[in-house]
Amino acid sequence: MCHAMEDIGMSAPLLHDLACVVHLHSTFSDGTGTVPQIIAAGQRAGVDVVMLTDHNTRAGAVFEGWHGSVLLLVGEEDTPAGRDHTLLFDGLSFAAHPFSRGSRRFSRISQGMPHTGLASSSLTGIELWSFVTDTAERVRSVREGLLFAAAPLRVLDHPPPENMVEWDRMCASRRVVALGGLDAHQIGLRFAGRVPLRLMGYGRSFRQLRTHVLCSSLPSGSLDEDRALVYDALREGRCYIAVDALAPARGFSFWADPGLPMGSEAPFDGQSLHARAPRPAELLLVKDGIRIASELGSRLDFDARAPGVYRVEARLRGKTWILSNPIYLR
Ligand SMILES: [Zn+2]
Ligand SMILES: [Zn+2]
Repeated sequence: MCHAMEDIGMSAPLLHDLACVVHLHSTFSDGTGTVPQIIAAGQRAGVDVVMLTDHNTRAGAVFEGWHGSVLLLVGEEDTPAGRDHTLLFDGLSFAAHPFSRGSRRFSRISQGMPHTGLASSSLTGIELWSFVTDTAERVRSVREGLLFAAAPLRVLDHPPPENMVEWDRMCASRRVVALGGLDAHQIGLRFAGRVPLRLMGYGRSFRQLRTHVLCSSLPSGSLDEDRALVYDALREGRCYIAVDALAPARGFSFWADPGLPMGSEAPFDGQSLHARAPRPAELLLVKDGIRIASELGSRLDFDARAPGVYRVEARLRGKTWILSNPIYLR
């Protein structure tokens, strides 16, 4: 269920990596799978934490807890009509599909569902990369939709560049935690709440895009303690987004000396920044939205020379594999 990070350097903070799938709908709202079916799909896909977010209900909370290797946590998606959908987890709030623009191809049935409250400091963060929304809005034809279902990695290459620009801009003034969400309804594509193409089961989508949280201790098996571990990591931005279907991402780490994990905010003091990947990749260091260093390999080390918001991207075979949360050196 959980694996301590491998020895990745003397000064890396010791954290425990849990692979989460976030933003799921069950039959308690408009999903097509029951909560026990979703839990079983999570077990088969090898995820550690399944984070359910039915529309405007926490009815699934009767199932909250450990089910074998899978911890089910239950939040909800606050869903006003047309915009400002927000994923809520016990005091945490994340703007869902915040940069949704609607589908050009399918504009008559999808107008987009953006979030207009991104300036609010009450938001913990945003769903930076939404597997279904960001993919569906790019699909230009039914044929492309079918291609997505047959080979999602051919379509799931990068988050929309506009999302990255907006996120970097927001991070300039405050910490904004980024999540990867699925918006899984047991389908691949959904337009404006309708289900024209029934393409992909939960289990398959659970293998694609995950949010890995870095916990300060091993899970204990107690729901209350382990929920707090996961939510604390999310609140602090101690998490990263990974396309685990490209390669398992567990073991990725990004920190600043002395032992500041990703998500941290600290006064600039000429800190050294370090990234480690569990396999060789193209590692990019981004400061304030601008790429400032890159390495081909499994490690990147860099001495920060100025205050800024630093984050790491890892690419494999030309596709985005991992997106870290930033370290904010102000
Ligand atoms: Zn939504
Ligand atoms: Zn949703």
